[in-house]
Amino acid sequence: MAEVQGNILTTEYPDLACYGYDASGLTGIPHAVALPSDVEQVSEILKICHKYKIPIYPRGAGTGTTGAALAQHQGLLLSLTKMCEIIDISTEDLTAVVEPGVITGDLQKKAAKQGLFYPPDPASKDFCTIGGNVATGAGGATAVKYGVTRDYVMALEIVLPGGQVIHAGAKTAKGVVGYDLVRLFVGSEGTLGVATKIWLKLLVAPESVGTLGAFFKDEKEAGHAVVSLFKAGITPRCAELLDNSSLAVVKDMLPFNVPNNARAMVIAEVDGFKESIKAQLDRVVDVFQNNSAKSIIIAQNSSEAELIWKARRSLSPAIKQLGFSGKISEDICVPRHCLPEMIEAVYNLSKETGIKILCFGHAGDGNLHINVLFDKESQEDQKKVSVLIPEIMKLAIRFGGTISGEHGVGLTKKEFLDLEIGPVELSIMKNIKRAFDPHNIMNPGKVF
Ligand SMILES: Cc1cc2nc3c(=O)[nH]c(=O)nc-3n(C[C@H](O)[C@H](O)[C@H](O)COP(=O)(O)OP(=O)(O)OC[C@H]3O[C@@H](n4cnc5c(N)ncnc54)[C@H](O)[C@@H]3O)c2cc1C
Repeated sequence: MAEVQGNILTTEYPDLACYGYDASGLTGIPHAVALPSDVEQVSEILKICHKYKIPIYPRGAGTGTTGAALAQHQGLLLSLTKMCEIIDISTEDLTAVVEPGVITGDLQKKAAKQGLFYPPDPASKDFCTIGGNVATGAGGATAVKYGVTRDYVMALEIVLPGGQVIHAGAKTAKGVVGYDLVRLFVGSEGTLGVATKIWLKLLVAPESVGTLGAFFKDEKEAGHAVVSLFKAGITPRCAELLDNSSLAVVKDMLPFNVPNNARAMVIAEVDGFKESIKAQLDRVVDVFQNNSAKSIIIAQNSSEAELIWKARRSLSPAIKQLGFSGKISEDICVPRHCLPEMIEAVYNLSKETGIKILCFGHAGDGNLHINVLFDKESQEDQKKVSVLIPEIMKLAIRFGGTISGEHGVGLTKKEFLDLEIGPVELSIMKNIKRAFDPHNIMNPGKVF
C-alpha cells in the first residue's frame, strides 16, 4: 500500500480483493482503496471524486448481507476502519461520541466498564462497525425492548460528495429544529454521504438480566407464545426464535439438553433491578406454560446465559455445516402477531418447491431470518429459488410487513423495492438522493 498525501491508497490487486466481498457472497473489485484517518482526508478524497465523477463506496467491516458495500461499478472504495476512536463517553449526559470505524462490541464493552449500556446489538457486533450500523439502521436481539440503531443516533458529522462537512441533529436529549436529517441518513446505505463522527445516546446498564430457553412442539406454538408475552404486559429484553433446523445446528453449543420432542426454541430475556428478575422470569414461565411449552430451562448464571447467546450468534455462520453450496438470507419483518402464519406460509413454500428453508430470528419484533439453502450448481435449484424468493417478499407485504427489518436493500433486494414503496414515494427518495449527490457518485447502483 502506498502513502499518498497522508492517506493510505492502494491499487494492488491482492489488496483490492480483500475489499471486494461482503457477507452477501457477491463480489465487486474496486479500482482503488483509500483508508483515510480523519475527516479532512475524507473531505479531500470526496472533493476529488466529485470533480472527476469517480464512484465512491464507503465501507465499514464488510459484514453487510446485501452487497451494499461492494464496488459494483469499480471506482474508489473508502474504508473507514482507520477512523476507530471512541472519542468520549459521558457518564453525566449518558452519551458517546465515536468515529465510524469503532467496532460495535468495543463500544458496548467500554460503556459497560462505566456502568453504561449501548443496546443495539447485531449478532455481528464483535466485528461490524458503528458507521456500518448507522448506514444500515442495524438492529439486534434487544431491539424488542430498546429499539434499533436509529433510536440511539443523536447527531452526525457527514461529508457530502462535494467534500462539504455538514452536521445533522442535536447533541441534546431533544431537538426539533429543521428537517430530521439524522433519521434520513440512518439506513441510507452509503448513498448520501460518509458519516465521520457519530453522537450516540447511552443508557444506564440494567442491574441484572435473567435468561431462559423454552421449547415448543413447533414454530407456530413458539410464535404464539411470544405474542402472548406482550399481551400479558411483559416486554422482554429479547425474544428470539429458533426453528427445528436451527436448533439442530447449534444444540451441542447450548448449556443444556434439548428435549427430544422439541421442534422450536424461544430464548427470552428480562432485565431490570436485581430483585425484579425472579418475578419477571416467573411471569414469562407462566405465559409459556400456558402456551404448551414442553420444557423451560432458566440459565443459572451469566456464563450459561452467554453460552445460549453464543449459540444464537453462531447460527448464521454455523448453517454452513449443513453442506449447502447456496444460501440466501432474507430478513423480512411482519407485525408480531402474523409471525406464526408467516412461518407456516414459508414452510409451505419449502414443501412445494423441495428447497430447504431454515428460520430463526427476532420473534419479539416479528423479524424473521429466512435462510434459503440450495445447490448452487443445480439449475433446477436455481430456478426454484428464483421463484421462491419473490414469493417470500410478497408474503411479507401481504402480511402487512416489510422486505427488510434490518439488513437493508443494497443490491440483493433492489428488484423488490416497488413491492413495498410506491412510485410517488420512490420519486421523492430519488429527488433526495439527487439533492445530496447530484453526480450519483455515492455508492451508485445501491438501493435504487
Ligand atoms: C453473522 C452475521 C450476523 C449479522 N447479524 C445482524 C443482526 O443481528 N442485525 C443486523 O442489523 N445486521 C446483522 N448483520 C448484518 C451486518 O452486520 C450489519 O448490516 C452491519 O450494520 C454492517 O456493518 P459493517 O461495518 O460491516 O458495514 P459494511 O457491510 O461495510 O457496510 C454496510 C453499508 O454501510 C455503508 N457504510 C459503512 N460505513 C459507512 C459510513 N461511515 N458512512 C456511510 N456509509 C457507510 C456501506 O456503504 C454499506 O452500504 C449480520 C451479518 C453477519 C455476517
